[in-house]
Amino acid sequence: MQKDILSKDNSKYLFDNLTKITNIITGTYFSLEEISNIAEQVNKINELKKENDALILAHYYCSPKILFGVADFCGDSYALAKKAKEAKQKNIIFCGVTFMAETAKILNPNKKVILPPMTAGCSLANGITVDEVLALRKQYPNAKTLCYINSSAEVKAVCDTCVTSGNVFKIVENTKQDQIIFVPDLYMAKNIEFYLKNKGIKKEIIAAGATCCVHDKFTLTQLKEIKAKCPEAKIISHPECLPEVCTNSDFVGSTAGMLKFVKESSAKTFAVFSEWGLINMLEAQNPEKTFLSCGRICASMKRNNLDNIENTLKNLKDLQGVTLNEDLIQKAKQAIDNMFKETENDR
Ligand code: SF4
Repeated sequence: MQKDILSKDNSKYLFDNLTKITNIITGTYFSLEEISNIAEQVNKINELKKENDALILAHYYCSPKILFGVADFCGDSYALAKKAKEAKQKNIIFCGVTFMAETAKILNPNKKVILPPMTAGCSLANGITVDEVLALRKQYPNAKTLCYINSSAEVKAVCDTCVTSGNVFKIVENTKQDQIIFVPDLYMAKNIEFYLKNKGIKKEIIAAGATCCVHDKFTLTQLKEIKAKCPEAKIISHPECLPEVCTNSDFVGSTAGMLKFVKESSAKTFAVFSEWGLINMLEAQNPEKTFLSCGRICASMKRNNLDNIENTLKNLKDLQGVTLNEDLIQKAKQAIDNMFKETENDR
């Protein structure tokens, strides 16, 4: 029976990838028995997907069972939003958090976009309000207002341009205005200031918002301990980390940037200051390399699971999905379109 289940194409893919993930600390060690236990559900979900004309998009921070079992495409929030735009399917099951599903809806107003846990918060997106942004705009009328993609549709609608962790430094550098309002990541704002200072560019960054409750936990002490115990390890960090962590890292970049850096690096050992899902993906893609146990868990991302994906697909017709009014979609889309325009030469 187990052998039959695992011989199906998608279960073989699941097996090939899950067996490369060996980190017991996170509970992501997969025995043959566990893989065969979830294989049946994985096969069921993949059949439901076809029957319901649905596409499953999953952020890298989701669990490996989703990434390797049922996702049609894995990526960071920017790549997933673009993928949603190209989708031929009528229904998009978006495994991520609320602001990501909203972004997919803004770019695909005619498609049904559903987040399996229905709502899943993000400390950054929840860390700024429309009123706070409007007050800053009033106080600094000549400033350009940038919002990180980790913001609500309402906040995007009152900003000039949306940015991602992959393009934020370029967009800030190319901004003509001397003052930039940047929301909602306070540490990313500090990292932008450091980047500009290093390049000799004078701009005032006016920041407001919060920090990522996952990336803000990595400390310089932890980084120094790793360097002392394992000097050959390359430390790679996300720009949502503390500025002193980023300035002491070997590489700082977006999720996609980290995957590329590790793939192309001749180094054999890495300490990744990011979410465990990304580390699981790195382990699967680079079985010959070692990843030290230092990741953290985003509880909101882990609210997506095989059970709520299966239930979503079974009840697709009765579920409403993400709803945003037309006016809000148009205004928020303008900030996203401006991002595409301002980075078109880099794509
Ligand atoms: S990892 Fe941080 S920024 Fe990403 S969804 Fe979780 S809380 Fe938000």
